[in-house]
Amino acid sequence: DSLEPTDVAAIIEETLVLLEREMMKYRISIEKQIGEVPPALACGNQIQQVLLNLLINARQAMLQGGRLLIKLEHDTSANTVDLVVRDSGTGIPPEKLRKIFDPFFTTKPGPDESGRGGTGLGLSACKSIIEAHRGRIRVESTVGKGTAFTIKLPVATKDS
Ligand code: ADP
Ligand code: MG
Repeated sequence: DSLEPTDVAAIIEETLVLLEREMMKYRISIEKQIGEVPPALACGNQIQQVLLNLLINARQAMLQGGRLLIKLEHDTSANTVDLVVRDSGTGIPPEKLRKIFDPFFTTKPGPDESGRGGTGLGLSACKSIIEAHRGRIRVESTVGKGTAFTIKLPVATKDS
């Protein structure tokens, strides 16, 4: 769980391997825009967990198929590694958008006996993880158009 210089592009690749078949099954195309970025100061396992949560939410918002964009870039003025996950799914109305990071907020049917379904804990866990990295997570969404999450992680510096 320790923070160390982390190759976020490699985490994206590892995470996509886990979900590629699932995305294909739902007719979701995946576009990657992976720029040259410095290592982030991060816990790789936790960042993978965050990315998995975002990608599964995106998949569940695109039941009719759609497009997924995963972008990685270096914000040179903030000196952050920025990860964007954008989907072309249902979008989120403003009154719900305010609550999506609250623990247990979900619009999905509750967990069934197999444990599947929405717990409403995914995004609140993502937010806790990103805050523990001294990073930022934000969301933009338009109903009928889609949703984009942006995560900003600090760049690992020689004295961090
Ligand atoms: P859960 O997925 O268990 O419902 P989350 O905390 O992951 O819990 O998400 C909370 C709610 O935010 C979801 O129930 C859904 O209404 C909304 N949401 C999250 N991501 C997206 C997305 N990409 N598109 C549309 N709605 C989303
Ligand atoms: Mg979720």
